[in-house]
Amino acid sequence: VSTRSIEPARYAERLADVQQELPEQDAAAMLVGVGADLQWLTGYARWPSERLTVLVLPAEGRATLLVPRLELPSAEACAAAQADLLELVSWEETDDPFALVAGLLQERNARPEIQLGALGGTWGRLGGLLVSDRLWASFLLRLQGAVPDAAFGLASTVLGPLRAVKDAAEIELLRRAAAAADRVIASTAAGRLIGRTEADVAHEIRERLVTEGHDEATFAIVAAGPNSASPHHEPGSRLIEVGEPIVIDIGGQLEGYCSDTTRTVWVGGAADDGPDAEFRALHDVLERAQAEARRAVAPGVSCESIDAVAREVIAAAGYGDAFIHRTGHGIGLEGHEEPYLVAGNETPLAVGNCFSIEPGIYLAGRYGARIEDIVVCGQAAGESLNQSPRELLVVHGT
Ligand code: ZN
Ligand code: ZN
Ligand code: ZN
Repeated sequence: VSTRSIEPARYAERLADVQQELPEQDAAAMLVGVGADLQWLTGYARWPSERLTVLVLPAEGRATLLVPRLELPSAEACAAAQADLLELVSWEETDDPFALVAGLLQERNARPEIQLGALGGTWGRLGGLLVSDRLWASFLLRLQGAVPDAAFGLASTVLGPLRAVKDAAEIELLRRAAAAADRVIASTAAGRLIGRTEADVAHEIRERLVTEGHDEATFAIVAAGPNSASPHHEPGSRLIEVGEPIVIDIGGQLEGYCSDTTRTVWVGGAADDGPDAEFRALHDVLERAQAEARRAVAPGVSCESIDAVAREVIAAAGYGDAFIHRTGHGIGLEGHEEPYLVAGNETPLAVGNCFSIEPGIYLAGRYGARIEDIVVCGQAAGESLNQSPRELLVVHGT
C-alpha cells in the first residue's frame, strides 16, 4: 500500500542523497527493483512479479523508472512521478527489458568520466552497479548478462544507513501503526481465549489489525503453553487452556510502515491460581531486561551494547542460554531492516533510528515469554512507540 503522508520534496531529497553517495561506492548507478527500497525512493508500492520493474538511478542526472506497459498507469500515479522527479519508460510484452536497462545506463549517464559509453568495454573509474537486495536472482542474472563488464554490489550499502534514519513523517506513521497494534493487544487480552485454537485467535488478530487502521496484517504469532517457548511459532490447532501463558506477537502495515509488538499474557480462567512462581520470576527478569535496554537507548550508543544490556540482566538471573535471539531489529517499510541490535554490530545509534527491543526467555518443552516494543532514538533518549502495559497480564480468557 502506498505512502500518502510523505511530502513529494522528501523523495527528491532521498534520490539526491543516494546520488551523492554513489561515487563514494565507485558506483555509476543504482538499480532498484520492486520492494521497500523502491517505495522509499519513489513512493511506488508494487507487488513483485516476473515482469521487470526497475528504477535506474545514475550518479548524476534524472532517474528513470522502467515498468511493464500494463503497469504504466500505476507507476504514473506514484509520488515521484507526480512530482516529475523521474522519467517513466514502459516496455512491451515482447521487449527485452534487460537490454533496455543497458541502453538506459548508456544514454542517461551524465558524467563523462564514467565510461558507460563503452559497455562491454572499459568502465573507467566508476564502473559498479548497485542493485537492490530484494531484486530477484532471475532479474540479476539477466542484468549481469546485459551489462557483462559491470561490477555488481548491493544497494543496501547506501540505502541501509539512509533508510535507517526516519524523518518526522515516517516516525508518525510508525507511531500510528504501533498505537493500532497496541489496541489489538488490549482487545485480544480482554477477549475470549480459553478453548479456542491458536489459529482462530491469530485470524481474529489479523482482522482487528485492519479494523484498527492497518492497511494489511502481516503476521500474528499466537503461541500458547509449551509453544510459547518457540519464538516464531506458527499458530496451529492447539486449544488454549487455563493456566498457561500465550506469547502474542503481531504486526501489520500502515501506508507501508510496519508495526511489531509482543506481549505475554497468562490465561488465568476462573479456577487457576495464576502463574506459577517460576513463570512470574522469569517474566520479572524479562521485564527488567527490556526496560533497561530501552533506557540504554541514546544517540552514539552502539547497537551491540543495547543487546548486551538486555542479555546481562537475563544471564545474571540464570536464563542466559534461554535468550536465543538478538535483542532487536530496525523497522520501517520492512518489518526487519537496519539497524540490528546484535552482538558484533558496533554501529552507533543515530537520532531517528527506529527498532524493536524484544528480549525473550524460552524454556523448551515448558513455556516462554517475550516483550517487544518499537523504540525511536531521540535527541537524548529512546521513546517507546508502543504503550501497552508490559507487566505479566493475567487474563480471564472467557
Ligand atoms: Zn521475530
Ligand atoms: Zn514481533
Ligand atoms: Zn520484532
